[in-house]
Amino acid sequence: MKALPSLREGFQPYLGSGASSLWYTDWSGNGLWCGKVPFVHIADTNKTVADCWVSGQWSFNALYTVLPTELMNSVQQLRVANSPLGLDHFVWRSDTSGCYTAASGYHFLTPGLAAEGDAVWKKLWKIMIPEKVKFFLWQCLHLALPTNQVRADRRLSESGACSRCSCPQKTILHALRDCPYSREVLMSGGCSRGWSFSVMDCFQWLKGIILHKEAITSITMFLLKPCT
Ligand SMILES: [Zn+2]
Repeated sequence: MKALPSLREGFQPYLGSGASSLWYTDWSGNGLWCGKVPFVHIADTNKTVADCWVSGQWSFNALYTVLPTELMNSVQQLRVANSPLGLDHFVWRSDTSGCYTAASGYHFLTPGLAAEGDAVWKKLWKIMIPEKVKFFLWQCLHLALPTNQVRADRRLSESGACSRCSCPQKTILHALRDCPYSREVLMSGGCSRGWSFSVMDCFQWLKGIILHKEAITSITMFLLKPCT
């Protein structure tokens, strides 16, 4: 639900019959027009969107209510289809069908991530490391590991804390890099170029390692090390 305000920008109005109330429905996506004028003239109360669409263009001259110029300008890109069957509605602009899907919503919210991700996904499956390490890293890139933090968020565990150092949030980054115990093993294995301890985004951190020859070798050794 946090993404809702951002997703809203992905929808645009599609005016079918234009039967929506000019004042009391948010047909333009800019909010209710009744709130954008000092008052709605009583003679205009029942006006619809279609009433202001004359011969294929907007015409607000017949209104008794005074509209701000910017309000009139804000709808110049919109068209009324004047279809008797088509309801005024909003369409999703990131898909040619106009229908929202979770996948197109994700791509809309993360422009560039898909392209940026391509390099790392392809590279991951090509590097010469054991398959189980590849699969583990793939899960980490998807943030799909059931760390204590994830388990606590899903009410599967009472605490999201790290059981080794008592850090209150055991995230993937903590488990792999920031926990003092992990850090000690990493350092003893020879911390090499390509490691960054300042990057706080798990995907970006792992991407840096996967695309760096020495770093991926180090983390593979780390992951294959028997637990003590
Ligand atoms: Zn820890």
